Amino acid sequence: MGSALDVTVSPIQPYQALKEYLCPGCEGVIPAGTYHLVVVPDEEPDLRRHWHHGCWHKELRRQFGSQASRR
Ligand SMILES: [Zn+2]
Repeated sequence: MGSALDVTVSPIQPYQALKEYLCPGCEGVIPAGTYHLVVVPDEEPDLRRHWHHGCWHKELRRQFGSQASRR
């Protein structure tokens, strides 16, 4: 199995966050003006998702298990 996640993660600064987004990690709202992350699958750029910073890191840990927290 290859990498489960071929994605590009970009930070969205508060001034760039002009509207609300729904976080797929917690299914909660990311209010406008909140620092968060946008995650774009390299193969499917249409499926970009906005995540709370903390939720994405939890997701990474779920995907990669203990490897992600070790370094
Ligand atoms: Zn979230």
